[in-house]
Amino acid sequence: MMFLVAIAIALTSAPGPWTTPFGSQGAWGVAVSRDFAARTPRGWHTGIDLVTPCGTPLVAVAAGEVVALGRDSLTLRHGEIYSRYDHLSLVEVRRGSVARGQRIGLSGRHGDADGCHLHLALRLGLPPEVGYTGEHPLELGYLSPASVLGIALPHR
Ligand SMILES: [Zn+2]
Repeated sequence: MMFLVAIAIALTSAPGPWTTPFGSQGAWGVAVSRDFAARTPRGWHTGIDLVTPCGTPLVAVAAGEVVALGRDSLTLRHGEIYSRYDHLSLVEVRRGSVARGQRIGLSGRHGDADGCHLHLALRLGLPPEVGYTGEHPLELGYLSPASVLGIALPHR
C-alpha cells in the first residue's frame, strides 16, 4: 500500500505531460509484442516491447536528464521516474538535458532482440535494468509504460 502511495505521489510530481516514445507519430503502426510484466521462461519482463520498423525516430517521453548511455540503449531521469530505451540502431543524445519529445535515437534490433522493436521500461526511484527480472516488476518499482504514458496499443 505504501508503495502504491509512493507511485501516486511520484506520478503527480513528475515532470509532465508524457508523450509516447514515437512523439507526434503517436502509436501509429505500433503493436505490443510483449507486455509489461509478462512472465516468460527468462523471468518477468521489465518493460513493454513495441513493434516498430527499424530506423523509426524515438523521442524522450518527458523532459529529463540523460543518466546512462550505451551503444544501443539509454536511460533518462524524470524526477523520481526513470525511462530506459533498448535495442536502438542509433543513440543520438549525449549527457545533459532533454526536452519532452526531443529525438533521442532510432529504433533497431540491436542487442538481445528478436526483430525490430523498442523495449521501453519505466521505474520509480532506480534506473531500469535491461530485460527480465526474477521478481515481479511491480515489486521492484517498475511501472506499466502504457499506463503511465496513457497510450492504448493493439497487441500482436
Ligand atoms: Zn522487452
